[in-house]
Amino acid sequence: MTHLTPLPDNRGYYGVFGGAFVPEILHSNVENLENAFKTYAFTDEFNREFRTLLRDYVGRPSPLYRADALCQRYNTNIYLKREDLNHTGAHKINNAIGSAMLAKRMGKHRIIAETGAGQHGVATATVCALMGLECVVYMGATDVERQRPNVERMKMLGAKVVAVHSGNSTLKDATNEAIRDWCCNPADTFYIIGSTVGPHPYPEMVAHFQSVISEEIKVQLLGHTGKETPDAIIACVGGGSNAAGAFYHFISEPDVRLIVAEAAGLGINTNMSAATIKLGSEGIIHGSRTLLMQTDDGQIKEPYSISAGLDYPGVGPLQAHLATVGRTEVIPVTDNEAVAAGYRLTRDEGIIPALESAHALAVLEKIKFDPNQTIVVNLSGRGDKDLANYLSHNPDLK
Ligand SMILES: *Cc1c(COP(=O)(O)O)cnc(C)c1O
Repeated sequence: MTHLTPLPDNRGYYGVFGGAFVPEILHSNVENLENAFKTYAFTDEFNREFRTLLRDYVGRPSPLYRADALCQRYNTNIYLKREDLNHTGAHKINNAIGSAMLAKRMGKHRIIAETGAGQHGVATATVCALMGLECVVYMGATDVERQRPNVERMKMLGAKVVAVHSGNSTLKDATNEAIRDWCCNPADTFYIIGSTVGPHPYPEMVAHFQSVISEEIKVQLLGHTGKETPDAIIACVGGGSNAAGAFYHFISEPDVRLIVAEAAGLGINTNMSAATIKLGSEGIIHGSRTLLMQTDDGQIKEPYSISAGLDYPGVGPLQAHLATVGRTEVIPVTDNEAVAAGYRLTRDEGIIPALESAHALAVLEKIKFDPNQTIVVNLSGRGDKDLANYLSHNPDLK
């Protein structure tokens, strides 16, 4: 296996994936961003502010919770990394804070973002309110409908939400619009991307800000079990940022199994799926070379998943690389399997997970672990935003 680190090479490549494929007008933006990231993000001054906000504003460290009922159900040792307990309800806030801090240091006062489930939009609108920045959020019209509560939160926070009606009006289309905006306003606008996708340095930068998740898991596991490393970590993958954060400090530890759940929608053979790693082929989307779902002549296929946060035809270059070299195991999970897993966690533990995170939980039904093993599931977010969706599905509970 090659390149078993979470970092890309200095051109932004993870193996054959990554790079920065942007229109001419954005070249200097992407370059300036990389310089700013390298200049500011590793200083003591930056880290002191970042860590203080993560602790006092986000509520970190998020707990690592031993889920006894799940341990019984699956006859192994299961710990949930509770990113659902973060302020605004998901891991997205970690990156939104780090990115907005960078924007301020670059003297940019207008923030744009794209959002699918609305979690990144809410996190960005929240941080903009906190830091006094103007905020515009692009969101597919379909997602505006299915994620109402988050749209209302963004508006209350003072953000302008722009509904996008192109394509099938989901995350891909919102991202296209955000990139278009950035091209028109390269001087005063900072684009906060919500996942480990987009042109270099975004995947590296977002993974860096999310890496606090695995940093904490190490310390917390040592406390729980006397050992820093688990036998396996499970995370769902849309663009790959919560997985990148949960895996970051374990990627170079070959004894830790890294397992990703991707959204199979109605099933990977149905044409109604977002299982990008299983079904995708190499191509370029939103500024980076990665795996994406496309037709033989290179047209992007419309993805489908019940979960707005996983409904994306691409995947970040780090996840594409880790899967391609065999470092991660990729498990497709259908809508029904995810909904059932969400209900199971709710009834077993009294925790309503985001539908995205429910995909990771469903892996426990598919892989049998030994009774003495330690498994960490990254619970990327909470399910308040998904209530209507859960209630309209009849779970197939075993
Ligand atoms: C956005 C989101 C995801 C998917 O994005 P990644 O970048 O793959 O983590 C997963 N879970 C939740 C709760 C989300 O909001």
